[in-house]
Amino acid sequence: MAMLAHHSQESWSQFLSYVEERCSSTEFENWLAPIKVLDATLEEITLEVPNIFVQEYLLDNYKRDLVAFLPTRLNGEPAIVFKIAEPKKTGAVIETIEPIVEHIDNSASQHECSLNANYLFSNFIEGPSNQFVKSAAVGVAARPGRSYNPLFIHGGVGLGKTHLLHAIGHEVRQNQKKLRVQAITTEGFINDLVDSLRNKSVDKMKRFYRSLDVLLVDDIQFLQSRKNFEDELCNTFEALINQNKQIVITSDKPPGQLSLSERMIARMEWGLVAHIGIPDLETRVAILQHKADLKGIRIPQKVAFFIAEHIFHNVRQLEGALNRLSAYSRLMGLDVTEEMAEKTLAELLQHVPQKRITVDSILKSVATIYDVRVSDLRGTSRTKEIVFPRQVAMYLAKEMINDSLTKLSSSFGGKTHSTLLHAWEKIGDQLKKDEMLKRNIQMARRNLEM
Ligand code: ADP
Ligand code: MG
Repeated sequence: MAMLAHHSQESWSQFLSYVEERCSSTEFENWLAPIKVLDATLEEITLEVPNIFVQEYLLDNYKRDLVAFLPTRLNGEPAIVFKIAEPKKTGAVIETIEPIVEHIDNSASQHECSLNANYLFSNFIEGPSNQFVKSAAVGVAARPGRSYNPLFIHGGVGLGKTHLLHAIGHEVRQNQKKLRVQAITTEGFINDLVDSLRNKSVDKMKRFYRSLDVLLVDDIQFLQSRKNFEDELCNTFEALINQNKQIVITSDKPPGQLSLSERMIARMEWGLVAHIGIPDLETRVAILQHKADLKGIRIPQKVAFFIAEHIFHNVRQLEGALNRLSAYSRLMGLDVTEEMAEKTLAELLQHVPQKRITVDSILKSVATIYDVRVSDLRGTSRTKEIVFPRQVAMYLAKEMINDSLTKLSSSFGGKTHSTLLHAWEKIGDQLKKDEMLKRNIQMARRNLEM
């Protein structure tokens, strides 16, 4: 029982770290961080909230996620008992209702994000899609500032970028205790800067950031179209790199596809740019089994394959499925079976595209949009009217299909993989400035995903 109770508590931490990445740090600090777990059992979790507003906020904004992470009642509601905390002193309630944005704490970084304790190298499952980036991360953690600098990790949502970033942080903190490691989200950096502008302590902030040995910056794409902040961060990067201090950056796109200044992009391309891809089926199964082990539940191999076959482009969703399944099996006191998986995951699975996207379907969709023939796209014609849509199709294939470049390019009538890569880069670049192209690509994506 104690074991299981521990799991609910853990589910709460998982819920928190999931949400933390989706809301601003101010929001997180004001609304979510003050919630305490008073008790956690097999069937329900008791939370202490500072006031009724926090309770309502939680249910209004995060019901779906609560259900995915925590035990649920038979009617599908999250099984949470709320207790309102005793006010500490008069006025305390008001303080917690009115978010405390402006506490004049002058520690240089109020928006530091602490490292997620689960995001360790030892918990990161390797497969062909992430081996390269993982070994780069391990290398950087072993010799910060002396191998690749910066290390730039890019890839889609929920594929383990933050996990690797924090793993580097843990590793350095563990083995090189003297080094100063700071992990921030790009939003956190911006908030820091806003705060210090307001408090007229920009110099202090600059000194702080420039005294670090390892700076881990998550989700740099949020810096796009925030020019002033971009300049400051770029200066910080340069200052650190010049002193051989390590920088690691994550992003949802490669540097060249971000709308940031040329200087910043050049900076980020200076070191090693590594892509983290969608894990293949075997890796997804291994990840599921590993996460199940961590939670202390047993999932038959068949069920793991069933889930991994249906949820394929996001590891976080895999975990969500697992949480739901384990909550259900605990609640009903039943072993996990394929049938149960099918039932409990039905809703999750609806959101996953049912059909696999293929090069054929991409060619068809692009041919319609550009009014050309599929056979021309596959063929060898080098006229502009054909080459361009062909490159668009290649771009989409690389973006949307989880296959090796060699395999993809052969589906384009035997083009080489460097042709495909070139097309992908070219279209990716052009996307930044070409609205028409952007719309066409969105249209193709929608068609394909429907
Ligand atoms: P991103 O930052 O790319 O959106 P995260 O690093 O937050 O993704 O990963 C989402 C979830 O998936 C995390 O719980 C993480 O532990 C898990 N995850 C992703 N990739 C792996 C992997 N290869 N092995 C184990 N867990 C993984
Ligand atoms: Mg992330």
